[in-house]
Amino acid sequence: MAGRLLLRACTATTLHLRSGVAVRPLPRAMSTVRGVPTDEEQATGLERRTLQALKHGKDPYSILKPKTYAGTKEDPHIVPGIGNKRLVGCLCEEDNTAIVWFWLHEGGAQRCPSCGSHYQLVHHELPH
Ligand SMILES: [Zn+2]
Repeated sequence: MAGRLLLRACTATTLHLRSGVAVRPLPRAMSTVRGVPTDEEQATGLERRTLQALKHGKDPYSILKPKTYAGTKEDPHIVPGIGNKRLVGCLCEEDNTAIVWFWLHEGGAQRCPSCGSHYQLVHHELPH
């Protein structure tokens, strides 16, 4: 009986008992004044650090779509690397089935030996 009464009290906005005493329903956990918490409010650990970095315009884990570059000498394709050289594969034309592989060294922009697109190695710190 008491359980059924409590269930009715939770579903109705106000329950009036026979004696004239009004009983208000218990507030639900997610129906607080502030509403449902956002991802930023409830994120912890690595997810929280990633959201804070994204807010400042950084992408420490490369989860965003990479920016497109023209591939010219003035706007080379940026290749992040942790060392002083990195192996790069260039798909010279859109429907090519063969990839042209070459070593990209630290310093200025280098050209693909096949198509001539420019690539530049930029030092990238890995997040911890
Ligand atoms: Zn190429």
